[in-house]
Amino acid sequence: MPSVKYQRGDMVMGRWPGSSLYYEVKVLRFDANSQLYTVIYKDGTELELREQDIKSAAGFQSRPRSRSRSQSPGRRRSRSRSPARTMRRSSSRTAAAVAAAAITESAPASRRDTKLKDAQEVILSPLVSATAAFSSVANHCSPAIHDCLNGYLMNCFLPPGAYFWLLFLPAWVLFLVLQVNLEDPSLANFPPPLPPLHAFWDAQALGLVILWVLFQVLLYILPVGKLSEGMPLRSGERLKYRTNGFFAMVVSSVVVAAAMHQGVDLTYIHSHFLQLTTASFLISVLLSLYLYVRSRSAAAEQLALGGSSGNVAYDFFKGRELNPRIKDFDLKFFCEMRPGLIGWCLINFALALAEMKQQALDAPSYSMILVNLFQLLYVADGLWNEEAILTTMDLMHDGFGFMLAFGDLVWVPFTYTLQAYYLVSHPNPLSPPAVAALVTLKLVGFYIFRKSNSEKNAFRRNPSDPNLSDVKTIPTATGKSLLVSGWWGVVRHPNYLGDLLMALAWSLPCGFSHLLPWYYMIYFIILLVHRDSRDMTQCRRKYGSAWDEYCRTVRYRIIPRVY
Ligand code: NDP
Repeated sequence: MPSVKYQRGDMVMGRWPGSSLYYEVKVLRFDANSQLYTVIYKDGTELELREQDIKSAAGFQSRPRSRSRSQSPGRRRSRSRSPARTMRRSSSRTAAAVAAAAITESAPASRRDTKLKDAQEVILSPLVSATAAFSSVANHCSPAIHDCLNGYLMNCFLPPGAYFWLLFLPAWVLFLVLQVNLEDPSLANFPPPLPPLHAFWDAQALGLVILWVLFQVLLYILPVGKLSEGMPLRSGERLKYRTNGFFAMVVSSVVVAAAMHQGVDLTYIHSHFLQLTTASFLISVLLSLYLYVRSRSAAAEQLALGGSSGNVAYDFFKGRELNPRIKDFDLKFFCEMRPGLIGWCLINFALALAEMKQQALDAPSYSMILVNLFQLLYVADGLWNEEAILTTMDLMHDGFGFMLAFGDLVWVPFTYTLQAYYLVSHPNPLSPPAVAALVTLKLVGFYIFRKSNSEKNAFRRNPSDPNLSDVKTIPTATGKSLLVSGWWGVVRHPNYLGDLLMALAWSLPCGFSHLLPWYYMIYFIILLVHRDSRDMTQCRRKYGSAWDEYCRTVRYRIIPRVY
């Protein structure tokens, strides 16, 4: 690491973000693009710090405890405001906490005052912010996009991984879309027959997709709904977002109903599914190209970490700019929540109409109604809690490039609708008791999902809320605590359990004749198991021995007594 202040291997004092505490840390590396140092704490926690949050170890000198107490008013403020208080209580747990305690005690008063001032100005580095992303009642659709196209997986293959994913993801969507059109969509029919090239293209389909996106743009920019603040950026700035997704969904439904009343035939969506997919794919590619080109002139602090490797394919895929905006219009936030998510419900609805048409029914089948309602509830819930996406990894950490653009505009609307698509030509009659059982399953799943996410969200937003006075917690060296009561005392990821039960309720209505409608369930199990182990690793890093204690107390990860 030439020409930087601290070198790899240096033992220095690193500030714990958001506090006035300094720990002894070892410098691992320096990223010239982000100007951040990656450091490792004694308990194994790795964080990224700015140079001004690092001090040389020589700058910290011992000072008698009693004197420092009496002389520094700054100290009292520090103790009352800083999460260090909790940290000090749990300081016996980790070496880092011991170091932190020693350091706050020993720093000379004047330096402590300066440090206190710094602490109030401290800006979390993105890596730290990303950890906070997990703490929200995350929007539950976007994480899927993030994970299925996971940049973290890519790191294993870099740079060939980028080429692989760029080719594989569209090919996989094509495979599913062609497969679901077959009378017998079994794996024995692999590969599905490819249609002639002209079958992929329809100018009207492209026009309709553009119209839909523009309509959602219009709803997004209307001055209706709350303006929510995002998490602090590296610059300390907090962007504002118009969170009116639920409103957009309601208006979209009214407009679609009006269009149908005027004679618009929504079954077009079913008969032109492939062309609509192609059109959306095209738009996602054009958008990604635009994003890549504009990111070339973006300032370094506007780029996502890890998104500017210098490898064109990787950067195009992963996305470089963190929050690309045209004036106040936030392209990433818009794409994450609007055209694809609301489009998912619209497509499902159109597929219900197609089923009625194809099978000459007066009303959609029970299976189709269930799939529609279950998924509608999921999306509506996500849009109702739209603000929560502002603390997810997608929003805070990832650049906006092909990975998210494709995920938002193609992956979600055209693969999450496969169950409904399948039912159009593969009826699966359900008896009333089966319907009742499925509704119960869905509601149980939804209850666990919503309750556990809300418990954690409430706790993370305000741990000292009097309503939470009787929850049991384990303090950690970071000042945050871990919940060990309620759903978080049953398994370590109760929200995943709820989500999996809901996914099961989406697939069961399609019966067991084919694997294809179970695609989401299978994909989701892999996704959540993988996500869980990734989160475990990150929490272990963040919380050290407190995390181990949590794991000893709550033994199972997702399914009580099973996994
Ligand atoms: P979580 O909401 O479970 O967040 C994990 C984070 O929660 C941890 O990193 C930690 O962050 C915090 N945490 C963990 N244990 C505790 C505890 N005991 N007490 C307090 N905080 C704790 O994970 P996700 O962001 O992965 O999932 C959010 C939702 O999105 C879930 O409901 C999930 O099912 C859903 N999802 C849906 C997908 C889809 O395709 N539909 C895909 C992926 C997820 P910290 O301590 O820093 O706050």
